[in-house]
Amino acid sequence: MSHDLDPPVAGPGLRELVDRLRVDPDDGFRLADRATEDDFGMTKDEALARLAASRSRIDVLQQRLHAEGERSVLFVIQAMDAAGKDGTIRNVLSGLNPAGIRVESFKAPAGPEAQHDYLWRVHQVCPPRGGITAFNRSHYEDVLVVRVKGFVPEQVWRRRYGHLRQFEQLLTDEGTTVVKVFLHVSADEQARRFQERLDDPEKRWKFRRGDLDDRALWTEFQAAYEDAIRETSTAECPWYVVPADGNSRRNMAVAEILRHTLEQLDPRIPEPEEGLEGIRIV
Ligand code: AMP
Ligand code: MG
Repeated sequence: MSHDLDPPVAGPGLRELVDRLRVDPDDGFRLADRATEDDFGMTKDEALARLAASRSRIDVLQQRLHAEGERSVLFVIQAMDAAGKDGTIRNVLSGLNPAGIRVESFKAPAGPEAQHDYLWRVHQVCPPRGGITAFNRSHYEDVLVVRVKGFVPEQVWRRRYGHLRQFEQLLTDEGTTVVKVFLHVSADEQARRFQERLDDPEKRWKFRRGDLDDRALWTEFQAAYEDAIRETSTAECPWYVVPADGNSRRNMAVAEILRHTLEQLDPRIPEPEEGLEGIRIV
């Protein structure tokens, strides 16, 4: 199992980088202690080279995971608006075999979703054996926006931390590796990106007036993220906090987290049938 980058490249090794971003359980996690910007000691080009290298490795490991057909990976991405959830998913997962990859996005629950418990819609779209599913927003919205906007009383959202831990434990026990990534962007960088969206006709559609209501609740959202991460980062289902003010390093770091997860899983291609070596196709 290879855990480091071969050939060696600028910046910390794969494991060191990933360890640095992980939130260990019970370490008194504080979001304010985490950077929104970090160049990891590499240039933009070096970050892009590492991203490309990790993507090719993820491709190989994903095919093995698919061939093995027993285990799966749930890759949760959470962030404030404009932190780059869509861009990260596009960059990290592009070029992979679409047969083994799914992306699921969660909006405010509507229709039957709103008529069931909050995990109902989530469980249905968890990855099948052999698959990798990325969640663009997730079950965590039910302790984030739902808390900040006061959609349910405190006693209701507070007990959800326990549900979330147990739900993810269930998935883990049954063969799904759960990894959670928070793209940590600064308020200043969000402002810059909102302005860019408004000024660019190709991007304006992404902006909703409601985004400014969420921005006005920045402090409350940060507090909700801090609590959610602290309460649900476990040894088996860890959170990673990725500095997200710079796109190339952000994408590289997220790719390395996924790569590291797959390296640890070390999926095995199935044993071929006996006696295939001698066969010559004519
Ligand atoms: P976007 O990701 O920008 O397309 O926006 C999706 C919106 O749906 C965000 O404002 C989320 O906060 C909201 N959302 C997602 N899940 C939930 C949920 N469980 N309850 C309420 N709002 C949600
Ligand atoms: Mg949005």
